[in-house]
Amino acid sequence: MTDTRSIFCCGCQAEVPARLTDGREIYPHRADLAPLPFWKCDACKNFVGCHHKTKNRTNPLGCIPTREIKAARQHIHQILDPIWKSGRYGRRELYSMIAHVLGVAEYHTAEIRSVDEARRVYRIVKDIGSAA
Ligand SMILES: [Zn+2]
Repeated sequence: MTDTRSIFCCGCQAEVPARLTDGREIYPHRADLAPLPFWKCDACKNFVGCHHKTKNRTNPLGCIPTREIKAARQHIHQILDPIWKSGRYGRRELYSMIAHVLGVAEYHTAEIRSVDEARRVYRIVKDIGSAA
């Protein structure tokens, strides 16, 4: 039986019926990832991982990113993580600062839906990082 769930797909820019699969399909050459759950959009072939270490192991990490958005999120983490790891701001504090500037209740990198949005967040984080 196929498990599907409605998840926002960045590739399709719409809520799509994502299909639950595992690492054997997503990363066929990574035996270590084989048992991990993923939600895949069969229309554009993009996918999202899950909070697999939690009790609800098929709970998706966020929306389904494209390759470009995934790369953009990694760029954000490269400048964001050192800020809270340095102890200058708490992680939670930093995330709420970003949310405040964005004008949203909560900020999650995994919820970024477009490259434009990622660029905006990148600039915000950069400003926070350079203001000392
Ligand atoms: Zn899609």
